Amino acid sequence: MTDKKPDLKGRLALVTGASRGIGYFLAKELAACGAHVIAVARTVGGLEELDDEIKTAGGEATLVPLDLTDMAGIDRIGGAIHERWGKLDIMVANAGILGVIAPLGHVEAKVFEKVMNINVTGTWRLIRTVDPLLRASDAGRAIVMSSGAAHSARAFWGPYAASKAAVEAMARSWADETKNMPLRVNSVNPGATRTAMRAQAMPGEDPATLPHPSEVAAKILPLASPELTETGLIFDVKKNHFTRYQMPQ
Ligand code: NDP
Repeated sequence: MTDKKPDLKGRLALVTGASRGIGYFLAKELAACGAHVIAVARTVGGLEELDDEIKTAGGEATLVPLDLTDMAGIDRIGGAIHERWGKLDIMVANAGILGVIAPLGHVEAKVFEKVMNINVTGTWRLIRTVDPLLRASDAGRAIVMSSGAAHSARAFWGPYAASKAAVEAMARSWADETKNMPLRVNSVNPGATRTAMRAQAMPGEDPATLPHPSEVAAKILPLASPELTETGLIFDVKKNHFTRYQMPQ
């Protein structure tokens, strides 16, 4: 995959979790490459800051303040894009929560359900509503944010790890369903990144030792390129390469 910035002029990109962290900087990168960005999150202040930055740089954005537990609201995004544009070129399913770092036996039911609702059901609901719109594009690109936790399944990371394993499996199924069309679907493992989520997971860690989300976003950007050929793979940001999911022997 080339590191060259893609030409996204005239393309439409939807990014969830665009109010801060990796999603914010990826939305900014996509807009800087010419895409009209539809930015989704709950925090209006973060979305407005993004909008200001995009517009100052000469780009365009549409803000969608939405809680991704509002499943009917997710469905409405698909309908609205269909009415206004008739297609979607890039989807970044990036929004996610950590829940809690705790032994599985100590996790409260409401916390487990929230992690699954936002990370898994919300992502599926988004896939369902944008699937026909991405198929209508001449070069639809779907980027699903996963985590190394999906594979390492470390002690105390159970709910989050399970949710990320689920979204990765969904992305692979979707890639297989669409392999004979222009749509390309890949998961991303961004690696440890200096964001609010990472600080919640590792409170003792010095954030200065971690890459800034803008650096991580710049490495993910080529997955949105119309020239991308890979599908059904996991892009490892730290290693800067794609890996294929291996069935355990
Ligand atoms: P942040 O916590 O910095 O940002 C999370 C984003 O998700 C925010 O924009 C937040 O917006 C949005 N979000 C959370 N809950 C909801 C909700 N209910 N409805 C709508 N939007 C929501 O996280 P990161 O940038 O670190 O993480 C981005 C992705 O990368 C996640 O999927 C995460 O699992 C993954 N990841 C991150 C790693 C890291 O080290 N940072 C490592 C591996 C994977 P708002 O609160 O405004 O709604």
